[in-house]
Amino acid sequence: MKELTKTMGLNDCTIDFLDNPAKMLINGEWVSAQSGETFKTINPADGSFLNEIPLAGIADVNKAVNAAKKSFETVWNNTTTPADRASLLWKLADLMERDKQILMELETLDNGKPLEKARYDVDSSINHFRYYSGWATKIEGNTLPVANDSIAFTKREPLGVTGLIVPWNFPLMIASWKLAPALACGNCCVLKPAEQTSLSALYLGKLIEEAGFPDGVVNIITGPGLPTGQAISSHMNIDKISFTGSTKVGRQIMEAAARSNLKKVSLELGGKSPNIIFEDANLDHVFESIVWSSFYNTGQECTLGSRIYVQRSIYQKVVDILKTKADSLKINKGMLNPDLGPMISESQLQTVLKYIDIGINEGAELITGGKRIQGELGNGYFIEPTIFAHQNDQLQIVQEEIFGPVVVISSFDTFDEVVARANNSIYGLAAAVWTNDISKAHRFANEVQSGTVWINGYDMFDPSVPFGGFKQSGIGKEMGKSAIELYTKEKTVWIGLKD
Ligand code: NAP
Ligand code: MG
Repeated sequence: MKELTKTMGLNDCTIDFLDNPAKMLINGEWVSAQSGETFKTINPADGSFLNEIPLAGIADVNKAVNAAKKSFETVWNNTTTPADRASLLWKLADLMERDKQILMELETLDNGKPLEKARYDVDSSINHFRYYSGWATKIEGNTLPVANDSIAFTKREPLGVTGLIVPWNFPLMIASWKLAPALACGNCCVLKPAEQTSLSALYLGKLIEEAGFPDGVVNIITGPGLPTGQAISSHMNIDKISFTGSTKVGRQIMEAAARSNLKKVSLELGGKSPNIIFEDANLDHVFESIVWSSFYNTGQECTLGSRIYVQRSIYQKVVDILKTKADSLKINKGMLNPDLGPMISESQLQTVLKYIDIGINEGAELITGGKRIQGELGNGYFIEPTIFAHQNDQLQIVQEEIFGPVVVISSFDTFDEVVARANNSIYGLAAAVWTNDISKAHRFANEVQSGTVWINGYDMFDPSVPFGGFKQSGIGKEMGKSAIELYTKEKTVWIGLKD
């Protein structure tokens, strides 16, 4: 490992981290799986081995949950004050800032994304911990206007042990979106990263330890959906599960919660977001944005603007410019900081190639792309950015989430037509509209069925702004004040005042 990685100019700490077999964090100790089982994590840029990761079984999950429960009852929701929690979260953010380069390198090696895009993820994660550090001391209840012979007030209490299950596309960032509010609210956590990308979460565990969080407050266990994820979602002593991933697994999580202890569930799921361009839009701004809204993170993004609708008079111009821009994207290994890196895995690449075949067989017009990239990059999971044109919203490639660098583009004539087409989806995660007509923009925002609407922009995020999906894109909103509601329960207290 040392020789290979040195040639990439990696930080010595990154190399050291990769040189030692990974351990999980349970009750403040770094441990292997009780069964001794492990799995391998690889670099999707070339398929090379990165590290051996413990494969947690039910016994390991039980140990983590017991530790979290004990810490919750004896320390975190007992002797630790909200101000203590605030300063620990802030300290963690400082340590992430100090080790930003290592976190970026681990994310790039494990996930494949370009180094500068990993920087954005780490910065966003740091911002989340700082934002929720501020919340820890500001979680208040209400006093209610009841009759004079009584008082009624509410308190917001932590839920207890939270199970946090994270996907592989933004591993550190989505872990932070969950950990930061869960901890600020006074919960203990059992975090499971996706099996393809455990490294940045495990490194974060080291920083959590260094920051001085009490043992058992954050436990990080590694392993696949089965058995590890399922052991979390069906656990009788986990009080809440926060899941980000596919709609298919989201259903299984809800079912497991229902069959076990009816734990609270919040879900951030898939999407097929419409990106709508009216002829009165500022096209310079559209053209700056559209290549990123279509292909960011090699298309492995839940909010990807994967259904583009363009008003007829400017349709051909947009198609031509998007094609030119897609064809000129630099695609390479993430450590070389290209525009796009590889896909996460051979199987995700094969899924995308299958959808490209489906699109061709369904009669959509392939404008560009469509092939795996061979040659020097042949050992990695690289694929060309792909554009299909169509006029049929019933096509499988228009209805289903592909989760790769594939967009479908279509022309429209009227406002009513395009709103109906935008809403013709089982998903409702995000939508964007480009127009200089403020009334039209607001009418669109009113009528579109999606949890987030961007007007004259795309992928705008901030820790203070709630994010989450409508329809089959999810349940509950993360970020902002909404996440405080997600990670607390409201208790009502009545006091009788009669003599
Ligand atoms: P996934 O297959 O649903 O997996 C997500 C996580 O769930 C992984 O940690 C996975 O573990 C785990 N898991 C799998 N089966 C499980 C089970 N039966 N019980 C409990 N946990 C289980 O999703 P993915 O392929 O990693 O990510 C892509 C999907 O995530 C896309 O659909 C995308 O739209 C969605 N996503 C949504 C958002 C959002 O905010 N709305 C953000 C990012 C991604 P293993 O992978 O280790 O098996
Ligand atoms: Mg990997």
